[in-house]
Amino acid sequence: MQAKKSLGQNFLINDTIIQKIVSLFVCDENDLIMEIGPGKGALTKYLAKLPAKVVCIEIDKDMERYLNYPDVEVIYDDILNIDLAKLVQNYNYHNLYIIGNLPYYITSPIIEKILKAGLNASKMVFMVQKEVAQRFSSGPGHREYGYMTIFINHYCEVKKEFLVPKNNFKPVPKVDSAIISLNLKNHPDLPEEFWQFLKECFSHKRKTLKNNLAKYDKAVVDEVLHSHNLDLAVRAEELAEEIFIELYEKCKGK
Ligand code: SAM
Repeated sequence: MQAKKSLGQNFLINDTIIQKIVSLFVCDENDLIMEIGPGKGALTKYLAKLPAKVVCIEIDKDMERYLNYPDVEVIYDDILNIDLAKLVQNYNYHNLYIIGNLPYYITSPIIEKILKAGLNASKMVFMVQKEVAQRFSSGPGHREYGYMTIFINHYCEVKKEFLVPKNNFKPVPKVDSAIISLNLKNHPDLPEEFWQFLKECFSHKRKTLKNNLAKYDKAVVDEVLHSHNLDLAVRAEELAEEIFIELYEKCKGK
């Protein structure tokens, strides 16, 4: 069967790597594993051997013929359309683990959706593009630092596990990949309005932060930047999360 490029279908074909990914979970029969995008079952066939219950979400019904494993349930739907918090309520479990060689065209929306759903997962393991892994583990002042860096690091400790060169997939993608693991950390709840504000801060990469925030009171933005001894021409990628929170609160009069 032809892989569907539009669905990000690059299938992992190296068994040693597959087993290395699955071994990042230690689970028992009381646990639930959610796999995103099982495809032809590269990971699923090993997940099925674990004592935990496995539930997969796959958009492509054509994969049905590959995904017949005892005690593995497959939901054929777009993960972005599923109410994940409601879905996990259907199961009795102790720990939840989430895994997926993610379709790269929607890596960030999937991770955003999972983290905003408040699933309280014990561990998440994802395959992402190598560059995306770098972006997620970057810090202020680095070129790769952006909205998703702040978002993901607000919720999780991000660990780069290992690289997966592109020749381990069929068809061979254009870029190398990396495995990352995410462990939830204690984090203050921030309203959706904050995340929208943060997107505005990063909306034009080449513009200064002040220009991206032109619709807010200029004096308020200047005051916050001054109070942190920051140049008024600073760009968003130089600031840490706390300063964005302060800017948000002052710009929105909170
Ligand atoms: N896990 C398999 C592997 O490692 O070989 C396949 C990984 S492939 C990179 C991504 C998988 O995600 C494909 O099977 C694709 O059909 C599925 N997919 C793409 N978009 C999806 C979506 N919106 N919801 C659920 N699955 C999706």
